[in-house]
Amino acid sequence: MKRISHWVDGHVVEGTSGRSGSVWQPATGEQQATVDLASVEEVDHAVAVAKAAFPAWRATNLSRRAEVMFHLRELVDANRKEIASLLSAEHGKVLGDALGEVARGLENIEFACGVPHLLKGAFSEQASGGIDVYNIRQPLGVVAGITPFNFPAMVPMWMFANALACGNTFVLKPSEKDPSPSMFVAELLKRAGLPDGCFNIVNGDKVAVDALLHHPDIQAVSFVGSTPIAKYIYETATANGKRVQALGGAKNHSLVLPDADLNMAADSIVGAAYGSAGERCMALSVVLAVDTIADALIDKITERLPTIQVGPASEEGNEMGPLISGEHRDKVAGYVGGAEAEGATLVVDGRDGAPAGGFFLKPSLIDNVEPGMKVYDEEIFGPVLSITRVKSYDEGLKLINDNPYGNGTAIFTRDGGAARQFQFDVQVGMVGINVPVPVPVSYYSFGGWKASLFGDTNIYGPEGINFFTRSKVVTSRWPDPHTSTVDLGFPQNR
Ligand code: NAD
Repeated sequence: MKRISHWVDGHVVEGTSGRSGSVWQPATGEQQATVDLASVEEVDHAVAVAKAAFPAWRATNLSRRAEVMFHLRELVDANRKEIASLLSAEHGKVLGDALGEVARGLENIEFACGVPHLLKGAFSEQASGGIDVYNIRQPLGVVAGITPFNFPAMVPMWMFANALACGNTFVLKPSEKDPSPSMFVAELLKRAGLPDGCFNIVNGDKVAVDALLHHPDIQAVSFVGSTPIAKYIYETATANGKRVQALGGAKNHSLVLPDADLNMAADSIVGAAYGSAGERCMALSVVLAVDTIADALIDKITERLPTIQVGPASEEGNEMGPLISGEHRDKVAGYVGGAEAEGATLVVDGRDGAPAGGFFLKPSLIDNVEPGMKVYDEEIFGPVLSITRVKSYDEGLKLINDNPYGNGTAIFTRDGGAARQFQFDVQVGMVGINVPVPVPVSYYSFGGWKASLFGDTNIYGPEGINFFTRSKVVTSRWPDPHTSTVDLGFPQNR
């Protein structure tokens, strides 16, 4: 059986902890690999290697660091299909979706190619007599990334591209469920000219994560995953003096106003709810349908569901793959099974007719869902869409704003004024106007509000550059020695 080990100092390094995890093939339900789970000592070694590589890498000139990113951009581009098929084998998402993930990850490498421009500071000539003031941004040192299973190629790219371009060295702890895309990209980074030791991977579980959170040489932790773990990461790593951004889970609502184009809204909603089997942090989970159009909208969504082809990524034409594990599939099926007992109406039961063998479910649609029901209150992370009927814009808005999560949302309307009001009112970090999955492009930054993000800095884009650097302000004077005097007063410039 394939064995997935660690990547340290530019090489694959076999684990010595004696512990390993199982990597499944979600489309067949069979184990396809083992993954080594790092011990504290193995994490310590990877951090030591990254620490040793830091002085030379931070001193490497900006053009050269950018050149590595340009080379990486070419290599990822040339290997899109290889990365996509690795990730779809371990994650289960269909090839088109996997290629989309690689493309969105690649954007972040392209953004990092502009690092010489991004690190330019400000300069104020003659801030006082003969005095200039300027700021520079410097890397932090060794930084860590801890990533979830659902975007095994893209989310690491959100982190390491900016971190490395800014001059940091990096230790990645990918999801133990689908680590192969990261191991492949590590090889590409080496081929792109990144010096050994600058990028390292420790595969592992809580043991490896905790070792990173407590390690005195880790300066910053970038985390993406579920809310309880994000909160734990934030609290533990900040208590250990680290800079932390910890992105958590979601319960994304969309509001459909009566004037919306219902066909367009139904197309968008179906894509956003069931794409990647609902295993996206920006997946649409709840549609708030204003009463007058709710029945018509449900009809339009329902008639689209039988056309969705569910099956393994390896078979052409499939649009939705399996869930990540048997345990997760059963948990998602439990929400569907429990909905009617809570008073909701099961319109389409995705437990019926799912392909056998793998961890499959078909799309489910549940009507009359209300706060207080499990299916409404919890992040399901599967192909289940709830409809909550509301009387008005105000009632829909209140539900969104009362929700503990604030990752993504969308409004469907043809009324520009209503859309603008929504953008003003809504307490969510990423807003779509007739756009169902509003993941910002790489030159903006990504981040939710409330329980969807712990920390002050969003991930990637300009805020990613800020996260992975710290500012230094220099006040400088080159006086004529003949004018020098002793002055004990506090410096002032008026
Ligand atoms: P997860 O929280 O279970 O795992 C994320 C990472 O944390 C993994 O590397 C895992 O090994 C580690 N981890 C898990 N349990 C831990 C523990 N007890 N202590 C220390 N480390 C631990 O998340 P997941 O199931 O891999 O991913 C799905 C979740 O991620 C969903 O909640 C989804 O909404 C969220 N997500 C959020 C975003 C975002 O940008 N906000 C993006 C993608 C996924």
